[in-house]
Amino acid sequence: MQESAGIDLGIKTLAVLSKGTQYENQGLLRPELRKLKRLNRELSRRQEGCGRWNRTKQKLARLHRRITNRRLDYQHQMTTPIARTYGVIGVEDLNVAEMIRNHRRAWSIADAGFGETHHQLAYKSEGYGGMPVAMNRFFPSSRLCHFCGWINSDLTLADRTWAYDCGAVLDRDLNAALNIERQALKMVTAVGSRRPKTPGERMSDSSEQSAAKRENMAEERRPSKPCQSSTVW
Ligand SMILES: [Zn+2]
Repeated sequence: MQESAGIDLGIKTLAVLSKGTQYENQGLLRPELRKLKRLNRELSRRQEGCGRWNRTKQKLARLHRRITNRRLDYQHQMTTPIARTYGVIGVEDLNVAEMIRNHRRAWSIADAGFGETHHQLAYKSEGYGGMPVAMNRFFPSSRLCHFCGWINSDLTLADRTWAYDCGAVLDRDLNAALNIERQALKMVTAVGSRRPKTPGERMSDSSEQSAAKRENMAEERRPSKPCQSSTVW
């Protein structure tokens, strides 16, 4: 087991590890998303409650289950080796509710399933005797230069790679992952020892937020609300 890793979760790239590994998100569900759009259109043309409406409704429900399952499979394929490989695992605390307010990005975020990824990393890491550490949500993982500590307050989401004042040129997500790893190690050291925490202590600095987030994500995934997600496109 290696000592530590930081993980930057994203939309286009599902996760970037401070060790350089990247997990892609897009492309995986594209055909399914097209089909979802078509079925939603079809449903809106049908008369509610009639036979054809019911059949389309059933097809939609099946498709939603398939999408959810594939995403879960993919997330498990990603989180298991991470949890098995690294001791201290730093993750961002994502304020998902805040991000979902931006409607154009709502579907992608729900699709990336940040809450679920967090949840899996936390319990798997504990299962392997590791220590998952969530950042405070105000930790400026992307804005902070990993090498000199300069904080770029002008950084926008469009800036993918940027050069820092000190001369460092780095991929934005990798820089964030490196910062998250270092911060996680600092937080663990600040606690005083590397002893494995009890389950109640783990991710304790944001357990309330995580719980709220999980609820949010559960809300997102609830199959009874499929049509809402299609309206944001
Ligand atoms: Zn710098």
